[in-house]
Amino acid sequence: MASSPHAKLHLRDLGNTGLKLSSVGFGASPLGNVFGVVSEDDAIASVRQAFRLGINFFDTSPYYGGTLSEKVLGKSLQALGVPRNEYIVATKCGRYIDGFDFSAERVTRSIDESLERLRLDYVDILQCHDIEFGSLDQIVNETIPALQKLKEAGKIRFIGITGLPLGVFTYVLDRVPPGTVDVILSYCHYGINDSTLEDLLPYLKSKGVGVITASPLAMGLLTESGPPEWHPASPELKSACQAAAAHCKVKGKNISKLAMQYSLSNNDISSVLVGMNSITQVEENVAAAIELTTVGKDDETLLEVEAILKPVKNQTWPSGIQQS
Ligand code: NAD
Repeated sequence: MASSPHAKLHLRDLGNTGLKLSSVGFGASPLGNVFGVVSEDDAIASVRQAFRLGINFFDTSPYYGGTLSEKVLGKSLQALGVPRNEYIVATKCGRYIDGFDFSAERVTRSIDESLERLRLDYVDILQCHDIEFGSLDQIVNETIPALQKLKEAGKIRFIGITGLPLGVFTYVLDRVPPGTVDVILSYCHYGINDSTLEDLLPYLKSKGVGVITASPLAMGLLTESGPPEWHPASPELKSACQAAAAHCKVKGKNISKLAMQYSLSNNDISSVLVGMNSITQVEENVAAAIELTTVGKDDETLLEVEAILKPVKNQTWPSGIQQS
């Protein structure tokens, strides 16, 4: 790592939970082979290196790799051999490889299955996964009350919701009692190409809800190697991001580092979850965070990249079902 050995990854408060998350969080979807095959040895080594470098927050879901991510993360965390309270684990419910089911019965069963795969007695955060694919009224009236029972039973500490369209967060938060939903996880909306979450941050703060963002690299768009085959972005957005990555490369810069630093710059966001599958990626992303706090970001290159991405700024893609 290029950064000073004395500099440390910052911990940030997560809303009213009392949890302190590392500014860089470990997104474990790649451990489910979502971005290509990852060996178990590489997965375990990546998690170990992440923890060693100060990452204390790990996010997964039964959906990632059809439960594979949870299983591999569970094994990797156990291999750390450290007390359970030294790391924070979030998983999800309601989205599975064979579809969506946000019923109370399914999410109640889901947590027991997740805990077994993760080799844990409890998770710190259980999030309803991609709620735009379910009925939001069911989330409010059935799913979240079921999660509250899991909280009382000690299987989960905090409740979260995740999704792509930002409107799902306000819909739910306006309809549940204050303090019921502790956390939201928003993805692909706080990065160089799309920063629309910014407008929602004051509202989320006023509700006392902790904010986690994910996909600072826009699920591979802001990387030199580009996104996976399944990426939902338009061809226009993909080619603009490719042009931005190429521009950085010609200048001897790395678009992923710039993208990480952009997402990490807002302290109202408690943790930026980046998907990682190798020691090198872990080291690069932690170094980017530390360099941001010690040296600052490369504003000149950022301005150039923003100019390249201007025609596609805040362009997103459809996700979910029409809500009635
Ligand atoms: P991401 O933007 O973090 O990109 C991940 C991709 O970038 C992977 O291919 C990874 O190998 C690569 N990468 C990571 N560091 C790199 C580096 N330094 N240089 C080059 N490439 C690098 O997208 P993501 O993985 O989808 O999002 C991060 C995490 O956030 C997920 O793993 C998941 O835990 C969470 N997430 C949750 C939701 C949801 O709840 N709906 C949605 C998206 C992501």
